Amino acid sequence: KLDFAGKMLAKLGAPVKDETVHAVDGVDLTVTKGEVVGLVGESGCGKSTLGRMVAGIMPASDGTIRWHGKELAELTGADGRRAKLQTQMIFQDPMSSLNPRLRVADIVGEAPLVHGLTTRREFDGYVDEQLRRAGFDPSLKRRYPHQFSGGQRQRIGIARALAVQPEFIVCDESVAALDVSIQAQILNLFMKLRQDLNLTYLFISHDLGVVEHLSDRVVIMYLGRVVEEAASEEIFARANHPYTQALLSEVPRIDARKKSFAGVKGEIPSPLNPPSGCHFHPRCPHAFDRCKLERPALKTVAPGHRSACHLNDRVA
Ligand code: SF4
Ligand code: MG
Repeated sequence: KLDFAGKMLAKLGAPVKDETVHAVDGVDLTVTKGEVVGLVGESGCGKSTLGRMVAGIMPASDGTIRWHGKELAELTGADGRRAKLQTQMIFQDPMSSLNPRLRVADIVGEAPLVHGLTTRREFDGYVDEQLRRAGFDPSLKRRYPHQFSGGQRQRIGIARALAVQPEFIVCDESVAALDVSIQAQILNLFMKLRQDLNLTYLFISHDLGVVEHLSDRVVIMYLGRVVEEAASEEIFARANHPYTQALLSEVPRIDARKKSFAGVKGEIPSPLNPPSGCHFHPRCPHAFDRCKLERPALKTVAPGHRSACHLNDRVA
């Protein structure tokens, strides 16, 4: 058994250059056991790339990923397989990640059987338990994925992930394709599973509103860089970075937050050829000379709250 004292640390260096892959540049992300971290940004900001790297699906061109204090790349044999299994990824579109030729029971039970987490004899009971946990009726397990709705398919995907007994789940826009009422059900399921199974999540979303209710900590990314990071309540009460403030103004809320920003203005620039200095300067209502020239460092603005904006130096 791996020790739980360590942290999952992804320190990713040089940008990944590829036409289809978005750059992730010098991101340092730590997810502590039991924590739910929300990773938020517009599409193309590199959050999916970062999620894939953290899940070990995509290699980082530079940097390291640690699992319980040990470098993931150096874990071999049974330890390596275990570390891989214990991180599961749940995607936006379950259809593309569920094998259409397999029945639900085999989709869920295949990996645990291969990895010796269940046996042929116990297979049915094991599969039923996973499906039940995911809120899916086990009596339908002989059917195929296309026979179900998007929400039910996402439950199959969740049951498949749970079946290998993960401790860390990376959710990449896992509810983005679902109707709002179904979204709420799936989000509630994630939170129930967190409690029941002591799971840790990296919850990736373009929607700060989705992340608000389930994250302990929120990390905001813009064009491959982390621009702000704080406890969830802190981000929502005292967002520091102009980009985060603009994102927040897009979240519909009952208490009618002051509309000092009308959302994020302008198109997101190409991540492969980002603007100089602060990547956000062409869209920032507060930009000044220094912003075009110098990259702002991520600095502590309050305990546990970091932000990368030159305005913080001005005030000081
Ligand atoms: Fe805006 Fe300048 Fe701050 Fe960037 S560094 S967010 S451009 S004020
Ligand atoms: Mg994405």
